[in-house]
Amino acid sequence: MNETLLAPEPKQHAVPSTMRALVFLGPKNIGVEQVSMPKAGFGEAVIRVTLTTICGTDLHILRGEYPVKPGLIIGHEPVGIIHELGIGVTDYAVGERVLVGAITPCGQCNYCLSGKWSQCGGPIGGWKFGNTINGAQAEYLLVPNAEVNLAKIPDDLTDEQVVLLADIASTGIAAAESGEVKLGDTVAVFAQGPIGLCATAGARLRGAGFIIAVESDPVRSAMAKRMGADVVIDYTKTNPAEEIRRMTGGKGVDVAIEALGTQETFEGALRVLRAGGTLSSLGVYSGKLSVPLKPFAAGLGDHKIVTTLCPGGKERMRRLMELVRHGRLDLRPLLTHSFSLNRITEAYELFGQRREGVIKIAIRP
Ligand SMILES: [Zn+2]
Ligand SMILES: [Zn+2]
Repeated sequence: MNETLLAPEPKQHAVPSTMRALVFLGPKNIGVEQVSMPKAGFGEAVIRVTLTTICGTDLHILRGEYPVKPGLIIGHEPVGIIHELGIGVTDYAVGERVLVGAITPCGQCNYCLSGKWSQCGGPIGGWKFGNTINGAQAEYLLVPNAEVNLAKIPDDLTDEQVVLLADIASTGIAAAESGEVKLGDTVAVFAQGPIGLCATAGARLRGAGFIIAVESDPVRSAMAKRMGADVVIDYTKTNPAEEIRRMTGGKGVDVAIEALGTQETFEGALRVLRAGGTLSSLGVYSGKLSVPLKPFAAGLGDHKIVTTLCPGGKERMRRLMELVRHGRLDLRPLLTHSFSLNRITEAYELFGQRREGVIKIAIRP
């Protein structure tokens, strides 16, 4: 047979004009729809999403508790392959694997240049994907300020090893960093959802001497131990404030991390804090938050209360990938389920109802 007849035709890049994406249609209403493909403008990139996941924040959006525009593609945890580079994006090539943080700072405004990357442009301004611009639960994703935000994934790391660094690991670990956990500190972490589990891992990475997790769910309690908790207190059976006081000889903990966003967990964290300790708050609160005066020592306890929004940008992602690469952090056990993008609404249901011991769900477009 004549081989020239079988020679492959010159490669034509099929340029689809539409793609599938999960669209927020209004409170309690989401659906996978065919939408138009993004196009990379100056300084931007389009990636083909190979792996993403669903965040608790997406549930808040779905329930109408955090308002976003109907028609918006949601999701903010992307791993993918560079599909198109806009003018002005150098040092990258189409086909490279990249991780993009949930927070995509511009790298140029006063906030960014003062080191407050998450607050890019103003309050919560760094959070753009699935908030103010189209997000990651789609076949393709437009990445703004590509040179600041595309973090190349080392060849020896899989998508599954890095996907949770985009948000929950960056956020959870940042709670330990903002709380300035020191070698040998005693740390309590209130709630062991995905972010609380990563806060526990962060306390261990920062060299805490003793880590106490507060959680009642048996699957999450077991995972807390795996992520670094020495003990887990089931608050439905034991009063955490009394138990933690007892465990610390009446003194309280050096750092208390709040990882849920409720009055109870905030108060719980304050009640176990030693004089001069730090309350590191991660939760997203709604309604009103009040400070009880006794554990706050009427304002005279030298307490520090710090809050943290997920840090993003490619340098943050690179540093987190180094932790994974050298075996100091393994988040794969948290990916308990897997769905295709076509079935993502079922994944939302499972995640929202916390069925089957779900912690995080891998979504593959
Ligand atoms: Zn999130
Ligand atoms: Zn900025």
